[in-house]
Formats: sequence, C-alpha cells, structure tokens
Amino acid sequence: MATERTLSIIKPDATERNITGKIISKLEDAGLRVIAQKRVWWKKKDAKDFYEVHKDRPFFKDLVSYMTSGPIVIQVLEGEDAVATNRKVMGATSPVDAEEGTIRKEFGVNIERNSVHGSDSVENAKKEIDMCFAKKEIVG
Ligand code: UDP
Repeated sequence: MATERTLSIIKPDATERNITGKIISKLEDAGLRVIAQKRVWWKKKDAKDFYEVHKDRPFFKDLVSYMTSGPIVIQVLEGEDAVATNRKVMGATSPVDAEEGTIRKEFGVNIERNSVHGSDSVENAKKEIDMCFAKKEIVG
C-alpha cells in the first residue's frame, strides 16, 4: 500500500441539497484526508476540458450542462491507496448498481447526477489535480 493523492469533486446535485458535509464524512471515515478544497462554479470550458476524454460520448453535452448548473466542491484527498479507496467509497457510476453504504448508493440521484467524481487512476489523479489546484493550495 502506498500513500497517494486523488481528485474528488462533490457535484452540483449534492451542493444543491446541502449534503457536502455528509459526503466528506464518508470520505474521512474511509481513511481519506482533505488536503485541498475549494468551492467553484465551472464555466462550460472548465467542464469540457475536465471531461475531454468523454467528448465523443452521447452523454457529454448533458454532462457539461449538469456540471455547470451549480457550484461544486473540488478536493485533493490523501491516504493509503487513495485512488482505489475513494473509488470504493464512491460506488459504481450508476446509483442502482452501487453497493450499500457507498456515497452514490446513499446520495446519487441517477447515472448522471451521481453526487461525486473521483479520479480513476494514479496517472489521471495527477493530471486532474494539476488542472484544478496550484501547488501552494495543497497542504498535506
Ligand atoms: N455519465 C452519464 N451517463 C452515462 C455515464 C456517465 O451522465 O451513461 C456521467 C456521470 O456523471 C459520470 C460521468 O459522466 O460520473 C463520468 O463518467 P465515467 O464513465 O468516467 O464514470 P465515473 O468514473 O464517474 O464513475
């Protein structure tokens, strides 16, 4: 096991329902530590750049609209195997497929409005952290 960092986003459906604290509690209970955090409201370009890998997928346009529909909370999480640990506590993309006790099972609305993002690899985590935070904003 290695100490890693990963990027987490609490999405607009969760900020709208004022459940960011409940989600952060689940992350902390899983052993993850918030070492950077900011609340922002993305412009279309921010969402398009972040989700560029999905630009040819049928859900891309709706995803960009949704991710710019309200504030989000972006975080860097640190912990043992942070990428995999975070993916486990998030649960599957669709809340109906997510395991009991996961964030998406408990709070997700549907496959799009699924409350959280988490990097899917150490390599992508590094990229996403660099996109969203300056070095001095991360206090480990
Ligand atoms: N998404 C969607 N429809 C789909 C698949 C994904 O709206 O059929 C959205 C959903 O918000 C998801 C995001 O696009 O979290 C990125 O998709 P990905 O396949 O990378 O899932 P994740 O890694 O977030 O579980």
